[in-house]
This record gives sequence, structure tokens and C-alpha cells, in this order.
Amino acid sequence: MSVFDHPEFASHEQVAFCHDEETGLKAIIAVHNTHLGPGLGGCRMWNYANSHEALTDVLRLSKGMTYKAAMAGLEQGGGKAVIIGDPRNHKTADMMAAMGRFVDTFKGKYITAEDSGISVSDILTMGQHTEHVGGTFSKYSFDGSPADGNPAPATAYGVFVGLQAAVRHRFGSDLSGKTVAIKGVGHVGLRLAEHLYKAGARLFVADIFPEGLDRAVNEYGATAVSVDEIDALDVDVFAPCALGNAINADNISNINAKVIAGAANNQLASDEMGKILAQKGILYAPDYVINAGGIIDIFHQRTESNAENLKAHLERIGETLSRIFDQAAETGQATAQVADEMAESRFQKS
Ligand code: NAD
Repeated sequence: MSVFDHPEFASHEQVAFCHDEETGLKAIIAVHNTHLGPGLGGCRMWNYANSHEALTDVLRLSKGMTYKAAMAGLEQGGGKAVIIGDPRNHKTADMMAAMGRFVDTFKGKYITAEDSGISVSDILTMGQHTEHVGGTFSKYSFDGSPADGNPAPATAYGVFVGLQAAVRHRFGSDLSGKTVAIKGVGHVGLRLAEHLYKAGARLFVADIFPEGLDRAVNEYGATAVSVDEIDALDVDVFAPCALGNAINADNISNINAKVIAGAANNQLASDEMGKILAQKGILYAPDYVINAGGIIDIFHQRTESNAENLKAHLERIGETLSRIFDQAAETGQATAQVADEMAESRFQKS
């Protein structure tokens, strides 16, 4: 199958396959749409089963970034990169340097940053070979805590604000006493757990690695469950914070939560899933709206702004979601469809 015929190609502007023999780097950089500005989006490193899986992931992710930037009111487009390999065992500084050189060939049309498997120090290494990186420094901290450029704290705060808005819409109440199941307690999921704990929610957590789980249990009173159990727990909110396809044909009929609101990109395996959730009365917070905190943070760090503006921008995620929920309730459309139409009206050329 040619890349142009790929079901997720979605009119991408540019897709580059990057190979560096010396370091073993195999990566794909995809720029979906730059009508509003350069394609900003993180770089993910993951042990993909094959290059086809990596291509599907990067195409879906970069398209999502276009929609995310549009809904966050940013003059940015959508792009994303994936590196094929296990970040725990295959990553080297030379490989990150080679990645930086490939990012530089885009001459600013693609700006990279952290995503799953890629840390601030990896982006700093890339940044020695290209100026087109974000998420490496923080001029402004939205909550006053010391910040190193990692966008995860801002993402987690945005998800928290959005989750609160979803709970208010669905239950007419705050988070106190609500039960939330978090799938994936990594950089974002663990910070989300902290916000939710402080707001009085009761937590259930699952992960494939123990580090985040132990902290969630010990510090935030969470109950650890297996990854096979977490999707179907009888809770108020399901928060997917691992990788994509959290809601798919295999698990959708087992989901008992009333609200789905989490950090993961591409939570719905297909548009159909959004419609089924709406029919089941499950309120879905569109992923690229609720998890926009990271690019909002990077945008502010790269421009002249201040901590108050950054925090206010992050908190508008809740207002945007409330508008989507209200419009979906009025029209009977799925929330994902409402969000898509709002985003497209902003970034598509008339
Ligand atoms: P991360 O790699 O730090 O955390 C992901 C966690 O999910 C890890 O702890 C991993 O072990 C776990 N995980 C992986 N597969 C799992 C499975 N099948 N079941 C349970 N747990 C599993 O990544 P992150 O930065 O926290 O990002 C999490 C998600 O949020 C990703 O989808 C990412 O694209 C998205 N996101 C992140 C940011 C950000 O600022 N970091 C911004 C927007 C969106």
C-alpha cells in the first residue's frame, strides 16, 4: 500500500521517513497541516511491532495536532514524529542528535517536543542540532512550581480542569467523592492523579510498569488494578492516560464509566466509537481538546507572555469543553463530531 492510500493519510502535507545507519535511528516525521502556522507536535519513541504500525500512529497523531492547535486558539499547525524502538533499551544520545538533524531539515515547518518515551534531556540533545524544538525551558510557571520545560505538568492541569468541567456537565457536581480510573500513570497520568486526589476524588490506577503505580498508591491513596480490569471498572470517570485506541470495538460494550476524560491522544479507535459513546449516554471529552495543555504551555514559553496568561489559557480548556458538551446536547451529535467541526471551521482554508 502506498502512503498516499493509507486510510489515515488525511491529506498530510509532508511525510518523511528518516533513517540514520550509524545510530540505528528509524523515525517518521509527519506534517499534517500548516494553514495556521508551523506544525508543532511531540516526538514519541515506542517499540512499534512494525513500521506500518508506526506510520499509522504518526499520521493519526499529527492530524490530531492540527485539530488540537485550532481548538486551543493557537496560530500553529499540526505535526508529529515517532521513533521506532524501545525507549528504555534502544535510546542513545547519538540517536537523539541524529533525530535533531532530521527535524532541522524541515526548516521550522515542524517543531518537535516531548511525548511518550522522550524526555527533556532528549529534546535538549536534539536542540543542539536544530532550533526547532519546544519544551526545553520554562520562562513562566502556571502554578509557581519550578519547571524545566517538560509540558506534562501543564497537560495534566488542563486535563484536570477539563475533567472537572465534564463532571459538572454530567453530574452537576464537583469531584469530591467521585471515582476515577486512570489508565497509565506516567508523566501526565501521575500528575493528574495528584490533582484529583487533592480535589477529593477516589482513584483506581493501572499501568504496565510499577513505578507510577507505587507512587499513586502510596502518595494519593489509589487502588491499583490490572490493565485488563481498568477499562470496565464501575466508576464515574475513566481517564485514559496511556497510548491510543483506549476505546475500541473490543471494550466499548464493557465500559461502565459515565464520563471519559483523559490525556491520551487518539482515544477513539474510530469515529464510530464516539457515536456509540453518545448513544450509551457516556460523556466523552474529545482528547485533543482536553489534552492541549502541553502545546499551550510550549506556545507561551516561546512567545512574550506571563504566568497568569498561561494559567488562564489552560483554564479555557474547561470552557471550550463546556461549549462542546452544550452543543452536543442541543444537536444530539457526538461530542467528538462537534469538536471536529469547530476545529475544521478554524483551520481549513475557505
Ligand atoms: P508516559 O510514557 O510518561 O506515560 C504513559 C504511561 O502509560 C506509562 O507509564 C506506560 O507504562 C503506560 N502504559 C503504556 N501502555 C499501557 C497499557 N496498555 N495499559 C496501562 N498503561 C500503559 O507518557 P505521557 O507523557 O504521560 O503521555 C501519556 C499520554 O498523553 C500519551 O498518549 C501522550 O501522547 C498524551 N499526551 C501527553 C502530553 C504531554 O505533555 N506529555 C501532551 C498531550 C498528550
